[in-house]
Amino acid sequence: MSLSRDLLEKDLYKVLGVPKDATEAEIKKAYRKLAREYHPDANKGDAKAEERFKEISEANDVLADAKRRKEYDEARALFGNGGFRPGPGAGGPGGFNFDLGDLFGGAPQGGGGAGGFGGGLGDVFGGLFGRGGAGPRTQPRRGQDIESEVTLSFTEAVDGATVPLRMSSSAACKACSGTGDKNGTPRVCPTCVGTGQVSRGGGGGFSLTDPCVDCKGRGLIAQDPCEVCKGSGRATSSRTMQVRIPAGVSDGQRIRLRGKGAPGERGGPNGDLYVVVNVESHPVFGRKGDNLTVTVPVTYPEAALGGEVKVPTLGGPPVTLRLPPGTPNGRTMRARGKGAVRKDGTRGDLLVTVEVAVPKDLGEKAQRALKDFAEATAGEDPRAELFQAAKGA
Ligand SMILES: [Zn+2]
Ligand SMILES: [Zn+2]
Repeated sequence: MSLSRDLLEKDLYKVLGVPKDATEAEIKKAYRKLAREYHPDANKGDAKAEERFKEISEANDVLADAKRRKEYDEARALFGNGGFRPGPGAGGPGGFNFDLGDLFGGAPQGGGGAGGFGGGLGDVFGGLFGRGGAGPRTQPRRGQDIESEVTLSFTEAVDGATVPLRMSSSAACKACSGTGDKNGTPRVCPTCVGTGQVSRGGGGGFSLTDPCVDCKGRGLIAQDPCEVCKGSGRATSSRTMQVRIPAGVSDGQRIRLRGKGAPGERGGPNGDLYVVVNVESHPVFGRKGDNLTVTVPVTYPEAALGGEVKVPTLGGPPVTLRLPPGTPNGRTMRARGKGAVRKDGTRGDLLVTVEVAVPKDLGEKAQRALKDFAEATAGEDPRAELFQAAKGA
């Protein structure tokens, strides 16, 4: 075995400070630069530099060698540090059902079905290193991300809510253990010889690969199709989950719930769940970020003379707002701490906009009073400035 486990636990790319997809030339360049910097000759007696130099050399030994680099990459992927890479036999059902416990030396689960691969750590590494990397792809696979949607009432969005979310995801068919075959013994697809892919000439020396049509990219064909899944090997499972939507979400917001997506396979992590939130409107309140808004009708005397006005709040007792004399129509005032919950638990404000209400029907007494008022203020022309400004411009 050419790579020690010790080495596998290190991120050699990080050691050299290069990206995972670095070219040979980039690796060479990075190594030379670092080697010069940390060379023992240039750092006499500096134990740290010496240690670093060793590390750099070690990383270069692996990454500069295409074959060893490939082995390293594949082995790292097995430890869950890399993503899932689809490849021949990737979807091999039933065959590769071991978990991380196996990888780290636990008892092998006899999973040797269709893929003919039933082992633990020894087999995996044997396949990768001992037999030249020709073994089946057995990387842990991260579960899929799932997107869902939920509709909350206005109040739920402000306060946060726990809502049931029904989700369906694709899982291995239980009846046939995901093989698609009634007896659990599918045969290798003759069209693609089990790779799940077929190449077609693309001209100019290129060849393109497509998923195999005959086996739908699975590499296997059921001899006697499973009746439950019609030979697909997949089943749709649905579950209902209680999902906590944090306080203060707004309409159209997309929330990520880590690890709540589809379960990972072969020890891979779960996918994430994304929930798009729709928020219903409220007949009275609106939202402006952390603040709530409300429009409150006031009478002309209240606006002109000033006074105290009661204002409703969302889910709490009303607050009293003091209008200063001469409050103009449309003036917005602030009731502190009566808004939506923020991330840190504090609340935004309630923005109260006053709207002077004009009575439709006036009693005789009110009419008389208003006429008196009109007479008393006859000298004031509210449009004088308007006409002045219109002429001036
Ligand atoms: Zn095929
Ligand atoms: Zn089935």
